[in-house]
Amino acid sequence: MTATPEDGRRDELAEALAAVRARVADAARAAGRDPDEVGLLAVTKTWPAQDVALLTDLGLSAFGENKEQEGAAKAAELASLRPGVAARWHVVGRLQRNKARSLVRWAHAVDSVDSARLVDALENAAAKALDAGERQEPLEVLVQVSVDADPDRGGAPVDEVPALADRVGGCAHLSLGGVMTVAPQGIAPREAFATVWEVAQRVRAAHPRAVTLSAGMSGDLEDAVAYGSTCVRVGTALLGRR
Ligand SMILES: *Cc1c(COP(=O)(O)O)cnc(C)c1O
Repeated sequence: MTATPEDGRRDELAEALAAVRARVADAARAAGRDPDEVGLLAVTKTWPAQDVALLTDLGLSAFGENKEQEGAAKAAELASLRPGVAARWHVVGRLQRNKARSLVRWAHAVDSVDSARLVDALENAAAKALDAGERQEPLEVLVQVSVDADPDRGGAPVDEVPALADRVGGCAHLSLGGVMTVAPQGIAPREAFATVWEVAQRVRAAHPRAVTLSAGMSGDLEDAVAYGSTCVRVGTALLGRR
């Protein structure tokens, strides 16, 4: 059999995935943690559905997108490339409230919730989608924590996070998964992740099922795993430079 371009890409992705898994496992062991406690979300924004299909062949099932339309199209395309393969789609980027209604048709989770108005819009949209049979389960929500409160990067300031988590917890059509963060520029990642770890503990104390701490990307996943991350979100190190 002759090698196809797809074989080349599959090999490339397999190699990158093994390297990312090794980094996560090393970081977990260095922190005295079980590597199995740390999940991997492949951030596939800008990459084609064909790459997502290859990643499902390699055993991945959780994917992150930052734009509603791109995610919707990719989720549909994956369903036709790999019928019957279960994938969980997370929205990881800043989200306009008017996208909520279309998002709940394909996304399983929104990891970037940072305002009460967005919580309410997602609750409304999820209620309608469940009613209409467009989805079967509540929408999982993570509250995004902004350590430096920079409004451009998204996320709620640390002191607003517990109240936002309570608001999500009170929504019948949302399920609170925990918290997410993107380490800010200008602060050592470890310092930022330590702060987020503390707020994650507060949220977990009030909501025992909200055990997810999504932290760490291609450049800082070791630091995040040292500070309790249960999910690293990796784009570049898996798929290449965007
Ligand atoms: C793009 C993105 C990632 C992945 O970043 P890489 O540095 O490419 O690994 C993770 N989280 C969020 C919120 C992103 O937007």
